[in-house]
Amino acid sequence: MADESLNPWKIAQAQLDHAAEILQLEQSVHALLREPMREMHVTLGVRMDDGSTQIFKGFRVQHNDSRGPTKGGIRFHPDETIDTVRALAMWMTWKCSVVNIPLGGAKGGVICNPKIMSPTELERLSREYIRQVGHILGLDKDVPAPDVFTNPQIMAWMADEFAVIKGHNEFGMITGKPIPLGGSAGRTDATSRGLSICAALAAQRLSMPLEGATVAVQGFGNVGRHAVEILSKEYGAKVIATSDVTGGIYNPNGLDYDDLARHADAHGGLLEGYADTHDGVSAISNEELLTLDVDVLAPCAIEGQLRADNAPDVRARLIVEGANGPTTPEADRIFHENGILVVPDILANAGGVTVSYFEMVQNSYGYYWDLETVHERLGRTMTDAFHHVYEMTDQFGVDPRMGAYLVAVARVAEAVHLRGRA
Ligand code: GLU
Repeated sequence: MADESLNPWKIAQAQLDHAAEILQLEQSVHALLREPMREMHVTLGVRMDDGSTQIFKGFRVQHNDSRGPTKGGIRFHPDETIDTVRALAMWMTWKCSVVNIPLGGAKGGVICNPKIMSPTELERLSREYIRQVGHILGLDKDVPAPDVFTNPQIMAWMADEFAVIKGHNEFGMITGKPIPLGGSAGRTDATSRGLSICAALAAQRLSMPLEGATVAVQGFGNVGRHAVEILSKEYGAKVIATSDVTGGIYNPNGLDYDDLARHADAHGGLLEGYADTHDGVSAISNEELLTLDVDVLAPCAIEGQLRADNAPDVRARLIVEGANGPTTPEADRIFHENGILVVPDILANAGGVTVSYFEMVQNSYGYYWDLETVHERLGRTMTDAFHHVYEMTDQFGVDPRMGAYLVAVARVAEAVHLRGRA
């Protein structure tokens, strides 16, 4: 039987319970926020390239829309579960609230393994998902985006299918689109850019220069890849390890982003084979990566990576969470006791949804910003949110995750209350 202490939905609800207690939330507001507002389960029949039809399960969970239309990515993952999607939807509500953008939280998922599907199979799956879930989506209702194992091309197919159903384009119904289809400048690396801004601000708090600091980045996907790029190229950090589903790589003298990117682009986005073909680079396991002797650890893969069993061995001074839910509550406690500073996911990875919001704004008025404007506004949003979270953290004497929750939950609770919903 699965270990319930690792169930992300139980974890998310327990985190809310703790925040509700500190904030002395009204019981009815707390009870309302403890559950998703709406969830949809769909069964997707998809024709495969060999002519057979395969059946997939999909979900879309809308947690809370009190502050605005719900927002959150769609994951394509073989281990997807409804409880994971519920947790991720709730975390989106808090994330949008932490950075104070007028959106609620949602998440979608399909149980599938995109790594073994062809582009045409993925296109048919993406279009079928929109045919099934599309009627609860829309720029004023619920707006998806990329997440684990989904990308701008998948967003393009989804936007197109939605346009076919509606009979007209509604670009703002989905974000993370390619730029020719109404995407925003700066969206691709926005999560990683926000993470890097947080890493720099947190390093300042520790009086630790980020320039020259050693960094391990778990994951080389939508978030990890650009975190390696931005931290090394723009902040002068020394990224000595990264990883993906095929394993980790390590070079104590620092990894070269351009070379990693070239290799990944030529190998289906994966780092497989990199260590074998590069002097000074060794293969390490994901577990080894998480416990390396580094200044900064950036878990940018999936949930439940830092747990009671490996947290005592983590040697980083600073953890910046690019992934959603990478740290279990037991691990959080251990980091707090060991004096490791954590920048929690709902703050550290909020840059992606922030630029998604900018994309929706640009789609709505049909006028597009340059990269400089996006960077400047993202920088301001992340910096304000960071300071707000650590002010709360200090004021209430809690850990930074709870500091972020206090900022986020208080705002959502106020909106619920003003609406008279609970
Ligand atoms: N999937 C990203 C996240 O977890 C981005 C969501 C969005 O842009 O809506 O924050």
